[in-house]
Amino acid sequence: MTATIIDGKIIAADLRARVAAEVARVGREHDLVPGLAVVLVGNDPASEVYVGSKAKQTRAAGMVSFEHRLPADVAEVDLLALVGRLNADPSVHGILVQLPLPKGLDSQKVIAAIDPAKDVDGLNPVNAGRLASGFDALTPCTPLGCIILTKTVRSSLSGLNALIVGRSNLVGRPLVQLLLNENATVTIAHSRTVDLPGLCRQADLVYAAVGRPEMVRGDWIKPGATVIDVGINRLPTADGKTRLVGDVAYEEALKVAGAVTPVPGGVGQMTVACLLVNTLRAACAIRGLPKPAV
Ligand code: NDP
Repeated sequence: MTATIIDGKIIAADLRARVAAEVARVGREHDLVPGLAVVLVGNDPASEVYVGSKAKQTRAAGMVSFEHRLPADVAEVDLLALVGRLNADPSVHGILVQLPLPKGLDSQKVIAAIDPAKDVDGLNPVNAGRLASGFDALTPCTPLGCIILTKTVRSSLSGLNALIVGRSNLVGRPLVQLLLNENATVTIAHSRTVDLPGLCRQADLVYAAVGRPEMVRGDWIKPGATVIDVGINRLPTADGKTRLVGDVAYEEALKVAGAVTPVPGGVGQMTVACLLVNTLRAACAIRGLPKPAV
């Protein structure tokens, strides 16, 4: 048996198209053009790539992209002042400060300064708290993408055993809440977990968000399980380049699982698409409009 490959590229393209259709509709019916402001501090090459792709996809969906670039040695007070101006700007509905921030800047303080209504990364403690309490919230994009991918192969997650490996604020913790909202039974594992392979073998749904290349082996996976690989690891190749691998041994997983996401071409594709979803949702909520149909 070979697992179904969950094609994040196609699913993300479909999601972006649905966002674009809703953006066109709110523009037509309500004269609303959602705006996303992305703040990049310093010139980390990976962050430059992410920010460029976010801006391009924002414009492609019919929204306005505002880009703010600040030097790595910017004073925290100046960064906070920019966040304050974006909070007050009515043409900005989403604010994203690209992480990680350079040394000397307190990312928790900066994230806490973002208006929760515009916090499209879902990392502000108000949104994290609302999500944990089961209220409506702007939700971190990567876990949101994980749920959408899972639902392409599982009509219901109710009663399924889900194992999340990794407990970061960015992925693992919000994913717990989203899976609980879907009525899954959730276990969250981390570096101190005892017998991770044994836990994994009981899981119908496996989410690997660790940052360790191919850590989850094929013989850890319950036959037929859905495996969502969040990990992005760069390994050197013989010709001096790098290749991307996930946290799951993909070829092994393909032989056992029911469905698997590839790396690249899986979760990573969904993260920016979900950022567009969040920006549209934030714009509608700020304007007092009903939730968009996406
Ligand atoms: P963090 O480093 O913040 O968290 C890693 C987690 O893995 C921690 O909870 C850690 O446990 C746990 N862990 C480390 N070693 C082990 C182990 N041996 N066994 C079990 N658990 C372990 O990472 P992130 O959540 O930010 O990212 C995880 C991965 O996902 C990375 O590869 C990252 O690049 C990728 N990523 C991909 C995104 C995408 O769009 N596809 C978006 C965000 C991240 P402990 O808490 O005990 O230290």
